[in-house]
Formats: sequence, C-alpha cells, structure tokens
Amino acid sequence: MRYSCTFRSFEYDIQFDRTGYQQFLREQELSEYDITHLNIHLITNFTLSHFKGNNDLAPGGAFFQRGREYVEQENKTTKGLYREYDPPGKYAAIFLRPGLCHIWDTSAHLNHTFLHETRHHIQHCLKLSCCSRSPGNEVFASLAAKDQPWEIDAEEFADKHFQSHTFLQLVPHRLQRSDLQWMKAQS
Ligand SMILES: [Zn+2]
Repeated sequence: MRYSCTFRSFEYDIQFDRTGYQQFLREQELSEYDITHLNIHLITNFTLSHFKGNNDLAPGGAFFQRGREYVEQENKTTKGLYREYDPPGKYAAIFLRPGLCHIWDTSAHLNHTFLHETRHHIQHCLKLSCCSRSPGNEVFASLAAKDQPWEIDAEEFADKHFQSHTFLQLVPHRLQRSDLQWMKAQS
C-alpha cells in the first residue's frame, strides 16, 4: 500500500481515512491496481515538477519557457491537481493544498477538492466517455477551461459526495515544543 499523506500546519494536523477511501473507490468500480497505485500528497505549494507533462508548458504551449509564471499563477488559485500514471513511474497522484482552503469551511472545501481530483483518477482508469480528450499524458491543470466535460463531471461528482464523505479530517492542535522542533527541521 502506498499512500503518502502527511500534512501539518500550525493550526491542525490532517488525518486520512485510508480504509474508508479505498472502500469508496471499490464502490466506484476501480480495480485493486488503480486503488493501490494512487498516491495522495498534501502540499503547501506547487513547484514546476508537479506540472511535468503539461501541454501549456511544452513547446508551442501558452506558457512555454514561462514555467515560473505559470506556477505562480497556479499557486494563487489551484487547490488540487491530478497526475495520471507517468511511465516508468507506477503511481498516479493527487496533490492537495489544504492551506488554500478557506479557514471557516476548510474541511468541507478540502474534501470537495479531494473528491474532484479523485474523480479525475476514476475518469482516467475507467476511460469514461465524457472525458475522452487529446492523447498523451495530459495534466488536469486549472488553466484549462472549467467548462470542459471532464471538469464538469468532476465537479458534479464532488458536489454529490462531499457532504456524506469526509476522508480528510482536520484536527486542531496547539503549538507545542515538538512543533517548534518540527518547524526548525523544515526550514
Ligand atoms: Zn479538475
């Protein structure tokens, strides 16, 4: 089993209900392979490496050789990102930025984003017809039009499930000595 999922901010830890999530993916008819070959990453900010393979950044793309600008723009608004299998790597990935979710509804917001990105994995693995698109290892970046059928489908999926499914729990905690050591280790 390979889920990496650790996130700590100064306000909260995030706990991931992996068992519940896997069960949910089974109910969505994903294969065991596709369930276990998906990594969940909770991150603070995107870097250029998160957008590897993105058409906008490739030669001829709108942001060719303007990667830094692209990442800056993504970091202002984008809460989640799905990456398909990227051979020879064996894992697809979901990247989530809990810090960007609004403070008063962080939990709901975060789970909604998580479900949206999860749907992209389902679309990809089950080759859903609403979501056929140009070939290649395309990345679902935010700059792509929101009215694309796969985005609408993902948004509807998240709307449908986010109130009944909370896979990521925010646990508030107070700053303690161990946090200061942790902060030091991170800097
Ligand atoms: Zn999307």
